[in-house]
Amino acid sequence: MKLNKVTVDDINVKGKKVLVRVDFNVPLKDGVITNDNRITAALPTIKKLIADGGKVILCSHLGKPKNGPEEKFSLAPVAVRLAELLGQEVVFANDDEVVGANAKAAVEAMKDGDVVLLQNTRFRKEETKNLEPFSSELASLAEVFVMDAFGSAHRAHCSTAGVTEHIKDTAVGYLMQKEIDYLGNAVETPVRPFVAILGGAKVADKLNVISNLLEKCDTLIIGGGMAYTFLKAQGMEVGKSLVDDTKIDYCKEMMEKAEKLGKKLLLPVDTTIAANFPDPIDGPIDVTVVDADKIPADMEGLDIGTKTQELFAEAVKSAKTVVWNGPMGVFENPTLAKGTISVAKALAETDATTIIGGGDSAAAVIQLGFADKMSHISTGGGASLEYLEGKVLPGIDVIADK
Ligand code: AMP
Repeated sequence: MKLNKVTVDDINVKGKKVLVRVDFNVPLKDGVITNDNRITAALPTIKKLIADGGKVILCSHLGKPKNGPEEKFSLAPVAVRLAELLGQEVVFANDDEVVGANAKAAVEAMKDGDVVLLQNTRFRKEETKNLEPFSSELASLAEVFVMDAFGSAHRAHCSTAGVTEHIKDTAVGYLMQKEIDYLGNAVETPVRPFVAILGGAKVADKLNVISNLLEKCDTLIIGGGMAYTFLKAQGMEVGKSLVDDTKIDYCKEMMEKAEKLGKKLLLPVDTTIAANFPDPIDGPIDVTVVDADKIPADMEGLDIGTKTQELFAEAVKSAKTVVWNGPMGVFENPTLAKGTISVAKALAETDATTIIGGGDSAAAVIQLGFADKMSHISTGGGASLEYLEGKVLPGIDVIADK
């Protein structure tokens, strides 16, 4: 089903207090932000609301504080960086209870176009349980709620879902809209042929993704550690490769499903093997490439082989839409990153719509310098996987339809 949510372009926020859930969960080292991508990614929505004369109240979580407030998880450094990037003052409402005296006073004093940042929403224990009174306290600050934190949209928390019990005027921000357009609508109504590529360690982590994408795509490519359980399900010897014996039947079921639906399911035809898993993971390693059905019992498959690289690249060439999630091998090791790099290259070279589903594949694409060659790189690893499973994400579901 195509999603058609109210966006920040559809609402009038002039003179109104707007609570915006952003994703400011940036990496910090000794109180210093080591990568501000998430802050810059939130700027278009924030600037739009400022330009429209809204009073912009930002909230986000940062890290995983266990027992309430912890200095090292304070959003204070984010407020400083955000002010620099916006070129205007950002008032940081530093309340341990998030909605406390400082937040209330700061919001009270706001003029149109002002920006206030609240403290880490996870300083409140109710947040991750979506419990009152935090939701109503957050909601009491504003008249409009804008959701722009895709990375948190798969969780029903006070700041992503609970607030909408009290604020009925809701919209998605530009970041969310882009995720919905690409991950949601491109997968639901793709320009065909639609090729989905899955990799990563375990079949068990991607059961529903495999099943759902098989229904949506024309060709499903499976590489990475999870491919060996499929190969074993076909009766092949996979040696010491990563295998989940409890999922052999599941893999057989998926292969039958592909056949029944008339979908192509591409598995590795050759594989890069070594005597052992690299230790350390990026340490030197001796490898050879063998056909997929020739893995010796004492060897371990750690990447796709050269013939498989060509096979997968060929499938990508004929695609009009490509979705990719998960590396093709132990890409942390330069010797075992070749399969992942070849897929990234194939995606970079095609004119198809290319969508990278967060996590390791997003990191690989960015690291290899291919980021600007992709149509969309999702900002949410867990959220994008749940979206590809066909699940309804609570943080999207609560926002009003057009
Ligand atoms: P995931 O978090 O499921 O996307 O899996 C990513 C991890 O899978 C990476 O750390 C890779 O090193 C690992 N991986 C990929 N291929 C293999 C393989 N053939 N054997 C073991 N681990 C693998």
